[in-house]
Amino acid sequence: MGRSEPLTGTRARRPLLAGNWKLFKDSAEGAVFISELASVIGQHEDREVLVAPTFVGLHEAVGAAEGTGIGIAAQDVFWEEEGAFTGEVSAIALAALGVGAVIIGHSERRQYFGETDNWVALKVRAALDYGLLPIVCVGESQEERSAGLTEEMLSTQVPVGLSSVKAAEAAELAIAYEPIWAIGTGLTATPDMAQEAAAFIRDQVALALGNEAAGLVRVLYGGSVKPDNVDELMAMPDIDGALVGGASLDVESFSRIVSYRRA
Ligand code: PEP
Repeated sequence: MGRSEPLTGTRARRPLLAGNWKLFKDSAEGAVFISELASVIGQHEDREVLVAPTFVGLHEAVGAAEGTGIGIAAQDVFWEEEGAFTGEVSAIALAALGVGAVIIGHSERRQYFGETDNWVALKVRAALDYGLLPIVCVGESQEERSAGLTEEMLSTQVPVGLSSVKAAEAAELAIAYEPIWAIGTGLTATPDMAQEAAAFIRDQVALALGNEAAGLVRVLYGGSVKPDNVDELMAMPDIDGALVGGASLDVESFSRIVSYRRA
C-alpha cells in the first residue's frame, strides 16, 4: 500500500484544507467521495487537502486517494506504540497504513472523552515521531468567550499541548483554532475574530518555541466554515487553512472550500 500524499518536503504555511468526517460515511462512501473530490479539484499543488474518515475507513480511503494528491488523516491517535490499551490505535499503525496526518484534541474528544492538554502533548509527540502531521485543536467555549477568557484558554492549551514539540518541527505541525460555540452550530467567528485568535495563537507559539517556529507553524480556523465564508476567512494574514466538519461531507461544498479564492 502506498502512502497517501503529500508527506514530504517543507510544508511551511502551505494552505491546508482538512475535512473532518467525524462519525459519518462508511468505507465505501468515503472512497467514492475521494474519487469524486479528486475529479472535481484536479491537481492542487499550491494547497494541501486532507480528509479524515473514521478509523475503519482509513484503509480504503488511502487506496482511493493514491495518486490524487489528497491526503488522509485520522481523527485521533494513542501515544503508545503497543500494549494493553484496548480500543486504541497507535501512530506507528496509522503511518504503516499510509495515513499522513491526525487531528488531535478536537473539542468533541475533550468534551465527551475527557481528553486533556497533557494527553494532547503525548499524542502530538507520537504523531511527529512517526511522520504524521498533527492538527492540534484549541478553542474556547461560549461561556469562556462571554467571560473574556478566550486568551487565557489559548495561553494554556497552546503551550501545554505543544510542550513535546521541538522548534525545528514547527513546519510539520498545524494548530486549528476552533471556537467550540462555532462548531456544528452554523455560527462562524467573524474573519476579524478568527484573525485575532490566530495571531494570538502564533504569539503563543513564539513564546513557547521562538519566532522562527511561529512563522512556520500553520494556524487553521474551524467552526462552520462554508463555501460562502471561506474566501474571507482565508484572506486573513494569520489563517493558513480551514478544518471543516459538516461542509466537508458533501463533494460540492467541500470542493468549493478547497478551491477558495484569494480575496
Ligand atoms: C469540526 O468538527 O472541526 C468543525 C469545525 O465542524 P463544523 O465545520 O461542522 O463546524
